[in-house]
Amino acid sequence: MNVIRMSTLYAPTLKEDPVGAELASHKLLLRAGMMRKMGSGLYSFLPLGKRVLNKVERIVNEEVESTGAQEVLMPILQPAELWHESGRWSDYGDEMMRVVDRHDAEFCLGPTHEELVTDLVRHELRSYKQLPCALYQSQMKYRDEIRPRFGLMRSREFLMNDTYSFHATQESLQEYYDSMGAAYERICKRLGLDWRAVEADSGEIGGKVSVEYMALADAGEAELVSCECGFASDVEAAACCPHPTVYEHEELEKIATPGVHTIDELAAFLKIPATSCVKAYSVKDADGAISVLFVPGDHEVNEIKAGHLIKGFAPLTDEEMVAAGLHKGSMGPVGLPAGVKVIADESLKAVTCWTVGANEDGFHFVGAHPGRDFKVDAWADLCTVKEGDACPVCGRPLTGARGIEVSQIFQLGTKYSEALGATFMDEDGMEKPLIMGCYGVGVTRAIAAIVEQCHDEHGIMWPLSVAPAHVCVIPLTVGDDLVQPAAERIARDLAGVGAEVVIDDRKERAGVKFNDADLIGWPLQVIVGKRGLENEEVEVKLRRTGEKTTVALSSIVEMLSFAHRYHFKKDAGRGTFDGLFR
Ligand code: ATP
Ligand code: MG
Repeated sequence: MNVIRMSTLYAPTLKEDPVGAELASHKLLLRAGMMRKMGSGLYSFLPLGKRVLNKVERIVNEEVESTGAQEVLMPILQPAELWHESGRWSDYGDEMMRVVDRHDAEFCLGPTHEELVTDLVRHELRSYKQLPCALYQSQMKYRDEIRPRFGLMRSREFLMNDTYSFHATQESLQEYYDSMGAAYERICKRLGLDWRAVEADSGEIGGKVSVEYMALADAGEAELVSCECGFASDVEAAACCPHPTVYEHEELEKIATPGVHTIDELAAFLKIPATSCVKAYSVKDADGAISVLFVPGDHEVNEIKAGHLIKGFAPLTDEEMVAAGLHKGSMGPVGLPAGVKVIADESLKAVTCWTVGANEDGFHFVGAHPGRDFKVDAWADLCTVKEGDACPVCGRPLTGARGIEVSQIFQLGTKYSEALGATFMDEDGMEKPLIMGCYGVGVTRAIAAIVEQCHDEHGIMWPLSVAPAHVCVIPLTVGDDLVQPAAERIARDLAGVGAEVVIDDRKERAGVKFNDADLIGWPLQVIVGKRGLENEEVEVKLRRTGEKTTVALSSIVEMLSFAHRYHFKKDAGRGTFDGLFR
């Protein structure tokens, strides 16, 4: 294996934090010379970043292939017709990058590939005997994110490993889905991530069952809740069990509440707990029919859940509220205009007496009794879950955390196969739609997640499994006839036994080399100096712990192997030594 030479390596490091980079991963990947920004949400990978990308991509591909999936490569440029067939040309919205060719034909730059892969198999997967079948690709995806930010975390072009599976039966889908779940867990471990699998909303893609793999990080955009019993969920998806307090008041009584608009103001004004005040939220469906949603005062309506319940869901604007005869800041279930439906969160079933708006500016009701004073048209799970709510499995209070969604698996069912007419002949001679699953790993986002979890104030601390190289040999002086030849020999010896080795042969001060080595984050540094060599010794530094050990020249290869084993095995999941001297 060749030794990488820092003197010729295209890895321009930066001393200062780049302007506009907020997250550690974004700053450090730029500062360490791993990537450069080319436009909003668009990055070039420089040689070191590309080495990391290749390693992450390889780990993901290996685990996905271990499930039996076969690699394909589909076009990035996708004809609009296929998206018209599925109905997503309009449903996908502004996130889709659209392109027109010279003949005025429309295309998109693939944000995902369900339509294309269904088209690919619909003429060939025709019999139950050919099933199950799983195809994957590792390819750039394009999404015109409303706010591209945080570097690789939310970009407009990103590398995804996407797999699609086709089945004759739900049991076969379930079996494959479980094996992909296990593969995705192994990917998280091999990438050295501290992660959690959480129940997820299946979102735009549809279908019923979905799990997200989250790297835990305060910088993560996703909010999750978990419980000691093992339950874990994305807050967007979790069934919610709030504990609204019950405030008893027998009579329905209208109270003047001048200047009161929010729940907190109402609770303070009436001197009652906020959780016993019921919050109202006016919405309309695709046909313009209006409902008011009610949730406990300390909770928010979850727009995703409400969207599943109400077709074409949209909150009412201030003007629409006025037109519908609704009073912003004072809505309640008693005396709503005719035709407006009352939909209440399940948890409010326990609340016999509601404190709510009186549908009159400046007035609220206390003692509004469902059944007696108003009718609830439908009960539903409407709230966004939050820390402290009861676990929907065991009832204990939930703990909150933040995470970075690294990957997600979905059971799609027959949504796309039905829309595109992808059917097969089953054993019983019947023509049936293929049952599908889809699975995606954000390869470039995974790199950001790794750096988010593995860094300190000096730079990146790559797990061995994805480091751009394993060892950096640092001669303290260059051009003399003792230190440099010794460093070159050590580098060659280590490379000779299969390690990926870099030598910092630049004519720079030792301080500059040390800083860059810490910034770039080589897992191991071998420091070669004149004084040490006089005693036939060098110094070895472990980046993760900062530990330094003096090692005899004669045993450097053996010692590194030991140090590595000691360090990485102890730090379970951060990458084992096994890959080093393959
Ligand atoms: P998010 O909710 O974060 O927007 P998503 O659920 O829309 O992501 P999926 O369609 O599930 O994303 O795509 C699979 C994976 O691709 C995600 O788990 C994530 O790791 C990655 N990914 C999605 N959008 C981006 C993006 N804009 N930049 C980088 N990676 C992304
Ligand atoms: Mg997702």
